[in-house]
Amino acid sequence: MATALLTVDLDALALNWTNLDRAGGGAETGAVVKADAYGLGVAQVAPALARAGARRFFVALAEEGIALRDALGQGPEIFVFNGHMPGDAATIRDAGLVPLVNSIDQMVMHVEALPGHPFGIQLDSGMNRLGMEPAEWAALREIALAQNPRLVMSHLACADEPDHPMNRVQLDAFREMTDGIEAPRSLSATGGILLGAAYHFDVTRPGVGLYGGLPFVDAQPVAHVDLPVIQVRDVAPGETVGYGNTWTAGRPTRVATVAGGYADGIHRIMGPHAYLYAGETRCPIVGRISMDLIGVDVTDAPEVPATLEFLGRHQSVDTVADAAGTIGYEVLTALGPRYARRYTGG
Ligand SMILES: *Cc1c(COP(=O)(O)O)cnc(C)c1O
Repeated sequence: MATALLTVDLDALALNWTNLDRAGGGAETGAVVKADAYGLGVAQVAPALARAGARRFFVALAEEGIALRDALGQGPEIFVFNGHMPGDAATIRDAGLVPLVNSIDQMVMHVEALPGHPFGIQLDSGMNRLGMEPAEWAALREIALAQNPRLVMSHLACADEPDHPMNRVQLDAFREMTDGIEAPRSLSATGGILLGAAYHFDVTRPGVGLYGGLPFVDAQPVAHVDLPVIQVRDVAPGETVGYGNTWTAGRPTRVATVAGGYADGIHRIMGPHAYLYAGETRCPIVGRISMDLIGVDVTDAPEVPATLEFLGRHQSVDTVADAAGTIGYEVLTALGPRYARRYTGG
């Protein structure tokens, strides 16, 4: 088979959830599974997280809640970050979703379309992305709290930088808006959990740390990507490899051509900076990354295995993200539909 293989380790996923649950102290630990569980497959990932103990799940769009409800069955709560948008009412009702309404307009739309249907509240504590600002919240607060919102939440802009003064600014703003209320409160995603107890409140919302990404430095790798070797050739000094002749052999070089490319989320810009692993040997990518193929210098490997590792034991999503000037989140969500997928453990 010449298909790149994406293996998702559901045991590592569950362990990451459990360790983030410990790090979150007494707070209840939820699970963010937006964007098809960060590209890894919500149908398999969500039930594994539920078995680990997660009872509150989060998606970005109401549409994403349909597949998630199918995967989880009745019981777990499913929150929608984008709230209640026009046209969402039937989806929210049928899949039993809880929109995190982020404006007075959304609140009005929600109670008119689905009277008595649960909702949560999203507040802006300074990120200026989604949520009610303090003045808007002050106007709505009494009415909203009288209807027992399932969650009152906000989101940190700089939680991956523990010393950033914005963390404290947002913590203070969130407390100012919510101290004394009865509804459960939530401020922290992965980064916020690691900022300490003051940031935990009642419910945490980890995403990327579950999937093996920073800022959870102790995360176990969850996504493993292995690329089949299609051909191996010897290239003489002075010969070139790949489109545009961007790489020239400076020594007698063994070049393996593997199945995988930018259509598989191995971004073309990684080319001059990225490596694949042949067993324990780190092998540089040579020449341009094509849509479906990559050339790799395997000269220093004692033998050329059937597959080379792009993600996994030797290389994290954040290492390869660096090669593209991006973040682990984008590497995961860009992997795409072409992989043969295998789920282990769980
Ligand atoms: C994506 C997201 C999360 C999860 O963030 P991670 O950094 O992946 O842990 C939590 N809350 C909100 C509002 C989000 O958009």
